[in-house]
Amino acid sequence: MSQSETMVRVAGTQQTVTPSETAFHPGKPSPGELVPSRYALRIGDIDVMIISDGVLPLPTLMLGHNADSAVRATYLENQFLPPDAFDWPLNAVVVRSGNQTILLDAGLGLDPDLHLPRAGQLVKRLEDADIDLGSVTDVVLTHLHMDHIGGLLVDGVKERLRPDLKIHVAAAEVKFWEAPDFTHTNMPQGFPDALRATAKRFLSEYGNHLKTFDDEYEVAPGVVARRTGGHTPGHCVIRMESGGQALTFAGDAVFSVGFDQPDWFNGFEHDPEEAARVRIDLLRKLASTGELLVATHLPFPSVGRVAIAGEAFRWVPIYWDY
Ligand SMILES: [Zn+2]
Repeated sequence: MSQSETMVRVAGTQQTVTPSETAFHPGKPSPGELVPSRYALRIGDIDVMIISDGVLPLPTLMLGHNADSAVRATYLENQFLPPDAFDWPLNAVVVRSGNQTILLDAGLGLDPDLHLPRAGQLVKRLEDADIDLGSVTDVVLTHLHMDHIGGLLVDGVKERLRPDLKIHVAAAEVKFWEAPDFTHTNMPQGFPDALRATAKRFLSEYGNHLKTFDDEYEVAPGVVARRTGGHTPGHCVIRMESGGQALTFAGDAVFSVGFDQPDWFNGFEHDPEEAARVRIDLLRKLASTGELLVATHLPFPSVGRVAIAGEAFRWVPIYWDY
């Protein structure tokens, strides 16, 4: 394959741009990742770093399984996205506040036989960012889907974490996974079983570390987890506030499509109607305050603001600050 083919693969009429690690250094060892995988910013006294876990190729039907297929096709075309499937970003966050180091979600971990080979990079990328797993004092999980907890199940990770590590999660989330209801979801084959198995394994391996909360919990100074429900019954968002600035990590309350089409049901949502209400409420609030938003599946580094656009919303990415 030539260099230009490595960089740009043409699929039908859509172009998929694939980052290349070798194109700029042919025949030489890779100098490391040429596409950045971390982005750091400060919210007052709180340090925030977004780290990409990689990408997940998923069918486009999942963006809005209640939408008319022609309307969905038009949306995809307008977004220059392929009609059938594309790579969803997958982000996690590291926060330092006071003397605590807090991981917000943990990425996919190992590929659970679902053909998601490009995700699961969090542990390596934490190392690249000089963040020692043993320095993490707390983990907050927005919910127990495998792309948010799997990094903790990678071989050797648990042994490197502190014995007194606290993992914060809503009590309703732990309860939900005792007998999870998938009847309102719309996932590719194999996903429900993999999600059930991963959550079960996580709860058995990390049960002793869990600190549950009902509606709201201040994990560290200015770092507050708040249960929203919707996506899963115990889904939470985490808001960081310090020095007059604020940033909300919304987990899976918002997907890229959710700005244009906030009431489209995402295939991973266990209560899609409630998830749409949660999304619209959150986007309205962020649009009125101008506070920063980061979300798991928005394009990396996923830091931006929300504006109102008629009946819907508009995503306004920040200008990178180098
Ligand atoms: Zn997710």
